[in-house]
Amino acid sequence: MADKRDYYEVLGVAKDADDSTLKHAYRQLAKKYHPDANPGDETAAEKFKEASEAYAVLSDPEKRKQYDQFGHAAFENGGPGAGGFDFNSADFSDIFGGFGDIFGDLFGGGFGGRGSARRANAPMKGANLRTGIRISFNEAVFGCEKEIEMNLKDECTHCHGTGAKEGTSPVTCSKCGGSGQVVYTQQSMFGMVRNVQPCPDCGGKGTIIKDKCPHCYGTGYTQSRKKIQVSVPAGIDHGQSIRIRGKGEPGVNGGERGDLLVEIAVSNHPTFKRQDTNIYSTVPISFAQAALGGTIRINTVDGQVEYEVKPGTQTDTRVRLRGKGVPYLRNSNLRGDHYVTLVVNVPEKMNEEQKAALRAFDELMTGKKPDGGGSGSGNTETKHKKKRFFS
Ligand SMILES: [Zn+2]
Ligand SMILES: [Zn+2]
Repeated sequence: MADKRDYYEVLGVAKDADDSTLKHAYRQLAKKYHPDANPGDETAAEKFKEASEAYAVLSDPEKRKQYDQFGHAAFENGGPGAGGFDFNSADFSDIFGGFGDIFGDLFGGGFGGRGSARRANAPMKGANLRTGIRISFNEAVFGCEKEIEMNLKDECTHCHGTGAKEGTSPVTCSKCGGSGQVVYTQQSMFGMVRNVQPCPDCGGKGTIIKDKCPHCYGTGYTQSRKKIQVSVPAGIDHGQSIRIRGKGEPGVNGGERGDLLVEIAVSNHPTFKRQDTNIYSTVPISFAQAALGGTIRINTVDGQVEYEVKPGTQTDTRVRLRGKGVPYLRNSNLRGDHYVTLVVNVPEKMNEEQKAALRAFDELMTGKKPDGGGSGSGNTETKHKKKRFFS
């Protein structure tokens, strides 16, 4: 993957190329390197795959955005797009499933009918759906079970997805004879080219519904509100997605359902901050605790823990509470740490007794009167201050 070429470079288009430019560039490459046109040619097959991958990403506005922002890293493990799109593990045939149309147009009939056979009746996986949920800081740390409600499409039980009224069935389209395609022959620089397009009468289905099913209005699908359980794993972070298999759109021609992608938003915690698997917080301690040492209680995601402050602790000292951080997403037995910054509190309001005690303490520490009275100089500035101080 390290020497993976830039997708724009692969297709030979500019970064701001529009859809038709992309499609055109891809068609040219696909025509040249298609395995059916280059039997046994490994290099051509590789080039074809490379171009197909580039086109699959760049022709999808969302994936293109991710690619523009993150490059190939967007689709590698852990990348922002990795949850929704996993090209590396996609098998060769999956790559074509997503944009059968282009292949149908290009190769239907022309190269042994590979595209046309796929198109009309082949099972196709349903589209993925996306949604999002918000969870609390602690729910993200420890994981949680959530229930969401979604409108999900199902095959209509009355017409079993055909869209035709009960007791009737769709009839074969007379324009295309049921193939779902019409063929135009065109003269081009390569010679005669057969151009295959979806049938305009039946929209590529090959059949036409005379009497529509009244329950689904001829669409073959019904929508209903469904409750879906989302198991949020411990350690998930803001912006990551969970894939729930089989909760997307229904497949076509018996294909499996698409998936539901749930993006997680994590709310801020009032006192904890998180960076990957570590948690950070600030804990105030008194001057006496800092100077003398002592036991304090620190809030963690596991509740309060006791911590022994060392005598002579300076402000902004950072202490580490091992294993009190966030579990690793891929191994919840391992946890990050909680870093606590101890801040020595300077009291803002003190009563006379407290002030006197502090002055006495200061006197003991320095061996001098705290307001300079020990020096005996007695200049007016000091006297003035002193007067106001005690008034
Ligand atoms: Zn129906
Ligand atoms: Zn037709």
